Amino acid sequence: MKAVEAPVREVVAPPLSNPDTIDFNRLLVQDQLAAISLGPHKEVHAFWLAGMSCDGCSVAVVGATQPSVEMLLHGTIPGVPKIILHHPVLSVEAGENFVREFERAANGDLEAPFVVIFEGSVADESISASTGGYWSGFGVRDVDGVPQPIPTAEWLKSMSEKAAAVIAIGTCATWGGVPAAFGNVTGSMGVMDFLGDDYRSALGLPVVNIPGCSPVGDNFTETVAAVLLFLQGLGPLPEFDELGRPAWLFDETVHRGCTRAGFYEEGTFAQNYGDKECLVEIGCWGPVVQCNINKRGAINHLGGCMNVGAPCIGCTMPNFPDGFAPFYQRPPGTLVSSTTSKTNGFIIRTLRSHTRFFQNRSRNWIAKGHVPSGWGHTREPNVIDKFGHYFYQKLQAMGGKMPGKA
Ligand code: SF4
Repeated sequence: MKAVEAPVREVVAPPLSNPDTIDFNRLLVQDQLAAISLGPHKEVHAFWLAGMSCDGCSVAVVGATQPSVEMLLHGTIPGVPKIILHHPVLSVEAGENFVREFERAANGDLEAPFVVIFEGSVADESISASTGGYWSGFGVRDVDGVPQPIPTAEWLKSMSEKAAAVIAIGTCATWGGVPAAFGNVTGSMGVMDFLGDDYRSALGLPVVNIPGCSPVGDNFTETVAAVLLFLQGLGPLPEFDELGRPAWLFDETVHRGCTRAGFYEEGTFAQNYGDKECLVEIGCWGPVVQCNINKRGAINHLGGCMNVGAPCIGCTMPNFPDGFAPFYQRPPGTLVSSTTSKTNGFIIRTLRSHTRFFQNRSRNWIAKGHVPSGWGHTREPNVIDKFGHYFYQKLQAMGGKMPGKA
């Protein structure tokens, strides 16, 4: 991807005098202050626009922790400029004062760089205009003496031309999402569709896409911090895939990071909601869906769909929701993959349970042939167990020395 090169500044580390007398807390603060002043930008404005949205993306972002919104707003991340957020729900200001900064940005009068963040899909306002209405708007303008809402799509169009970056957050803004599902009476689409494939921001970036319904809040704040470091000339341009997703966050499937993947490998599958095994037979699309929610958790490294028992319905993918319907029904590909897992898994489970039988015994207990537990009866190894264990240990000892053996 081609992008304008950010200004490069030489970063000089503060000198360390006598290591024995370093006050690390003080040093950290000094380092941070020094780093904060690095780069050409002290402040960057972030203008949040909401189209056909449920505000779920905003809720997800305020729950982010790595980094948190507070860290971005206070400018406490070394090197990352302080963000001045203009958000229709979170900002304290309202009315004309609130809208004025959006106008200044759209007119090119803002004397600071800014990014545009769009939540919700972009509706086709020409459909609503034909009946004198609007789908989503903010701020008003005078039309024949009557104040009329200004569609957010218009704001997006005018502000995107001067923005350092346009970031689409959530599946509605990235790919169209639920408002653009079959039927789509509002003509809804993603920001990328709306601005077109030739769109480039003032810094040469196409639309950055962070999908999810709702997205992982940390995916957003982390990407913003990475892009801002690039704008400061302190970091490389973060790697994005061919759809503008942060590659390091979306290049793996849900399945690869799933806490239930071990059950899949051993061929055991949930048949009911609440079962602990892999959810693929009750409708999980995790093996094909690109998302990191299982690894990262929903908020503060907690939760996440499959971690709490919900099959993946593909909400980060461009073909969501129609391409994953009907929900909670076994994906057709499962016929091949889970049948194979069940066959292999039966053999693997049997062998592993045999190994586990001996690994659950201490050296003393194996020597005595008895487990002295008052909690319950433990079966003693029979001839077949011992025979298998003997050969297993032979294999285990190959190329190394077992403790106590010649
Ligand atoms: Fe993969 Fe879904 Fe099963 Fe997890 S629950 S192991 S993501 S198929």
